[in-house]
Amino acid sequence: MRDWQAIAQATYDIIVIGGGINGAGTARDAALRGLKTLVLEKNDFASGTSSWSSRLVHGGLRYLEQFEFSLVRESLREREVLLRNAPHLVHPLLLTVPVYRERSRPYWKVWAGMVLYDIFSYDKSVPIHRMLRGGALQQVLRGLDRENLAGGAQYYDAQAEYAERLCLENIFAAQTAGATVCNYVTVTGLQKSGDRLSHVECRDTLTGETFTVQVAPDGIVVNTAGPWVDKVLERVSPVWNCDRQIGGTKGSHIIVDRFPGMPDAALYVEAKSDKRPFFILPWLGKVLIGTTDLLFEGDLDRVKADNSEIDYLLSETNAIIPTANLSRADIKFTYAGVRPLPYTQGKDTGAFTRKHILHDHSSEGVNNLVSLIGGKLTTYRHVGEEIVDWVYQKRGQTAPPCLTLTTPLPGCISATDPKIQSATRQYASLISRESISHLFTLYGAQATQVLDLVNASPELAQKISPNLPDIQAQIVYAVKHELAQTYLDITRRRTTIAMQDYYGLNALPVLAEVLQKHCDWTSEQCDRARTEYYDYMRNNCIPDFQLGAIDAQLKVLQ
Ligand SMILES: Cc1cc2nc3c(=O)[nH]c(=O)nc-3n(C[C@H](O)[C@H](O)[C@H](O)COP(=O)(O)OP(=O)(O)OC[C@H]3O[C@@H](n4cnc5c(N)ncnc54)[C@H](O)[C@@H]3O)c2cc1C
Repeated sequence: MRDWQAIAQATYDIIVIGGGINGAGTARDAALRGLKTLVLEKNDFASGTSSWSSRLVHGGLRYLEQFEFSLVRESLREREVLLRNAPHLVHPLLLTVPVYRERSRPYWKVWAGMVLYDIFSYDKSVPIHRMLRGGALQQVLRGLDRENLAGGAQYYDAQAEYAERLCLENIFAAQTAGATVCNYVTVTGLQKSGDRLSHVECRDTLTGETFTVQVAPDGIVVNTAGPWVDKVLERVSPVWNCDRQIGGTKGSHIIVDRFPGMPDAALYVEAKSDKRPFFILPWLGKVLIGTTDLLFEGDLDRVKADNSEIDYLLSETNAIIPTANLSRADIKFTYAGVRPLPYTQGKDTGAFTRKHILHDHSSEGVNNLVSLIGGKLTTYRHVGEEIVDWVYQKRGQTAPPCLTLTTPLPGCISATDPKIQSATRQYASLISRESISHLFTLYGAQATQVLDLVNASPELAQKISPNLPDIQAQIVYAVKHELAQTYLDITRRRTTIAMQDYYGLNALPVLAEVLQKHCDWTSEQCDRARTEYYDYMRNNCIPDFQLGAIDAQLKVLQ
């Protein structure tokens, strides 16, 4: 895949800039419909906004308040498609909305929202909502603050705990369907000739090597760079007139251990201080709390949860579940991302539309370039379908039928599939039942490929960290089969070790050992990878108030 000469000499029907969920979904759709497809991602796949979401595959109850009915319907339809086509990665999730007297959303309003939500998801496979009066809700959720509790609603949405893997699975499915997919390739220039883009200039981010990809005479360039959409558009030359497209808002999350009073179901609650809704979500045995919504004009490559955002999420959680008693000391991980929303002036950030826009740049004199503005995790498949239909239309061709609606993702497997039982028996002496089940959740049916590595080298059955079910074969699989190039690719996107166990720092010695033994990494390469890893964690994930203590601990360990 990293043969730049071959890529420079080839011609592509569609060049996708950005390997987040929307680029990945577009590439899969395009390749399945027979288009020669190239994906260029400047970092790792799923390293942008797609890895910083709340991980919900949802209709967006809140969007009903903004009358975004078409978005709600589209999202609820796509939720159903994902529950069917990716059941290993997307699961139904029960949510509770507590309603308090004298807050901004009264009981009747929540009830009306629930009824509408059920109507918009008339074709769903999950149960409809139920309303509970105060006493009944207290019976179900004993930890909730009782003062002024009027009751609440319970309803189903869905959760993609490993949202990054949803993106990766689309990337690798695109690759299997014939696409060329490259991570760590930055698009540095887009050459315009007449009213078309003729060349895409690229730089290998790992080696600094540069190369140029030709755009075929009927080739189309798709800008799915998320919050970086405008940065990509700035690279068009000669310079053109293109208005600002993105007005991103930052959203932060915190991860804490389960706390007293935390229900098994998720909570969707209104913050006491500013009436904003936010989520308290069960996530891989921990609790994911988010999010904030702040205008963001900073460096998109260094986005971090501020102390004030962290304190807001902690105190609002304590307000709704007083026994939680959370403090800064409870933080296990934080992350923040920027929503690629359409540039909007003069509105409250919560009121910015969440609907996506396909911006055809022919209006600015470039005929073969389209930018995606917005686009949620939930709706990526439909967005991909729309983009590929547009590509065919631009090429003056009839689009073949879209296949992604009915084609399951490659890992698609049900939790009761006999393959899981049989693997559990076959590897009983080497790998725990918990780890086997984890592998089938993470990789779906493709878990057998990870287990094949254990057949060849049984020592790879050992765990990476004693606290987690991940096994060492996953490290080798990530590098040899899933285009992982850095420590972060392995701990943060091929697995979620970084988010679950001390920022992934404990796992680094094991990574170094396995990579040197099985993937020909040198010790210098591992040292460099470790330094880069620390830098990234410091700049993006470790809250400022923890930096001193973690640095001191690492010094002792070195
Ligand atoms: C806090 C938060 C919570 C959210 N929660 C949810 C949720 O629960 N459910 C939901 O459905 N949606 C949610 N979203 C929205 C959703 O996550 C995003 O809209 C979606 O992930 C955007 O995906 P994308 O592929 O368009 O962008 P990204 O994932 O950002 O991908 C764009 C990619 O382009 C690459 N790129 C940029 N410049 C270049 C270049 N020059 N060359 C090559 N590559 C480049 C970047 O590295 C990046 O990987 C949330 C978003 C945020 C921020």
